[in-house]
Amino acid sequence: MKVLGYAAKTPTAPLAPFTFDRREPRPDDVVIEILYCGVCHSDLHQARNDWGFSEYPIVPGHEVIGRVVSVGDSVTKFKAGDLAGIGCMVDSCRECNPCQQGLEQYCEEGNVQTYNGHDRHDHQPTYGGYSQTIIASEAFVLHIPQGIDLKGAAPLLCAGITTWSPLRHWNIGKGSKVAVVGLGGLGHMAIKLAHGLGAEVTLFTRSPGKEADARRLGADHIVYSTDADQMQSVANQFDLIIDTVPYVHDINPYMSTLTLDGTLVFVGFLGDNPPVSTLPLILGRKSVAGSCIGGIAETQEMLDFCGEHGITADVEVIKMDEINDAFERMLKSDVKYRFVIDMSTLSASAK
Ligand code: NAP
Ligand code: ZN
Repeated sequence: MKVLGYAAKTPTAPLAPFTFDRREPRPDDVVIEILYCGVCHSDLHQARNDWGFSEYPIVPGHEVIGRVVSVGDSVTKFKAGDLAGIGCMVDSCRECNPCQQGLEQYCEEGNVQTYNGHDRHDHQPTYGGYSQTIIASEAFVLHIPQGIDLKGAAPLLCAGITTWSPLRHWNIGKGSKVAVVGLGGLGHMAIKLAHGLGAEVTLFTRSPGKEADARRLGADHIVYSTDADQMQSVANQFDLIIDTVPYVHDINPYMSTLTLDGTLVFVGFLGDNPPVSTLPLILGRKSVAGSCIGGIAETQEMLDFCGEHGITADVEVIKMDEINDAFERMLKSDVKYRFVIDMSTLSASAK
């Protein structure tokens, strides 16, 4: 099936219209007409080959919400007309130990990324949600809660689950103290979800002017990470720090703000960061960890929680041909707090 999308063809080229083939649906496939797609900082990293494993052309987009157009013969969980979501992965081996536990994101054979991946059956490249239509096995398609705002729900498929998963893994709830580093797409969802789970929430930010927003989103305290006195004032506090910063940065100043047995979990930067002193780790039994998106069942749990609690992302809706400006603004941390592409603008943007 011929599908129109927007692609990066090289690490330096702006995204531009691109027509490509999607596979014919298999018996377990769901065909989705895309309504909205969120813009994640990972889209920018991959379009520009920041991580060194981009294969071009890349059609980014892994915060996909749309309507089911048709389903294969063996599909039981979806029917035409249903709302449906796709996040960062569209398949995994389904047999290894992590997959059996519902942790498909940690598949020992590697999960199949929604874009810049390869289908396990036909080995063709996967293309993401900056496009008209997407096709995936029903096992990797999510149900969208009734009545939720669709624009605001799209970012739940990546920013939402990537922050929900560590909150759940580290048993965050009433009485917990959580800090979030960076108020961007992931950071603002981390604040909303941690607050929704009943935790006391602190934002670490470098950017003046985000204080009122952070409070509105659910933060109880704001700490400027560049101010040594403010950092000192929150020593030995946090059970969990969720670090969403996308680039190299020193985490040593944050380690002293963890309490006994506290954990700093990286969800942002992928690569080699400055070394961490073992002193706070040993003297405070503290941990440094990482976390990758979340499993499919956990993603559904998060979507249902958001449906029940009225939680969605704060979004700025853009047209498809505004994506290159959106990437530049994202680099300047000028996003409040997630761009979402209205995919009905795609065909006009391709003229
Ligand atoms: P974003 O919207 O651009 O937000 C990042 C925030 O980090 C900024 O708003 C800024 O907050 C802070 N920041 C930016 N540059 C910084 C720097 N050089 N030093 C310190 N702080 C900085 O990005 P996002 O979409 O939330 O994504 C964040 C990262 O998570 C990306 O690297 C993305 O690839 C990654 N990611 C990982 C997973 C996973 O599974 N682990 C999933 C999705 C995304 P302040 O202005 O408040 O300081
Ligand atoms: Zn993402």
